[in-house]
Amino acid sequence: MDAGFFRRWLTTAALAVEREADRLTDLDSAIGDADHGSNMRRGTAAVTAALDKEEPATPGAVLLLAGRTLVSTVGGAAGPLFGTLLRRTGKALGDAERVGGEELRQALATGVEAVAQLGGAAPGDKTMLDALRPAVEALPDAAAAARAAARGAEATVPLRARKGRASYLGERSEGHMDPGAASATLLFEALAEVTA
Ligand code: ADP
Ligand code: MG
Ligand code: MG
Repeated sequence: MDAGFFRRWLTTAALAVEREADRLTDLDSAIGDADHGSNMRRGTAAVTAALDKEEPATPGAVLLLAGRTLVSTVGGAAGPLFGTLLRRTGKALGDAERVGGEELRQALATGVEAVAQLGGAAPGDKTMLDALRPAVEALPDAAAAARAAARGAEATVPLRARKGRASYLGERSEGHMDPGAASATLLFEALAEVTA
């Protein structure tokens, strides 16, 4: 996988976010402040624009630029968290021109741990991590990772949120999918799509 592959991954994810933005916002309107779709749409559109403009030459550089862009364009909690995921993953890939599936798995595992550290969320706290963790564990099989993310997101439905805005609702957060877990699923579905 070279820089072109990573650019295709992230631009494909941006298209999915664009397509699903209303659903992401609906999920966030149930247990948050109804801005997750617009937050993610703004951020991922800015990522696509930045990648087109700068054409970073290595996988690591693609992810670093994308992560920086998300942090600087997304106001909500998800921007710094997804931004950290991509930045730390990119940093872990270093300046290699090409990376294999196992290297990507390890780098993403580093990125996911950075998200856990930044947000302080544990498994089952009903956050994006509940989709990200199982997805990364299923790599390097990208299709399996996408399915694991979707299952992880689905499994957030009955949970009570313990982190982020949804946690203010207490037991009223039960019965709804976590919006960030839904977005994390789109990221891995895009990976499976460009891998296939
Ligand atoms: P905001 O809550 O600031 O409006 P968004 O709506 O864009 O931000 O994103 C909300 C999502 O961010 C949640 O669905 C959840 O997945 C994720 N999130 C919030 N806080 C945390 C945290 N501490 N750790 C991990 N993920 C979190
Ligand atoms: Mg929100
Ligand atoms: Mg908000």
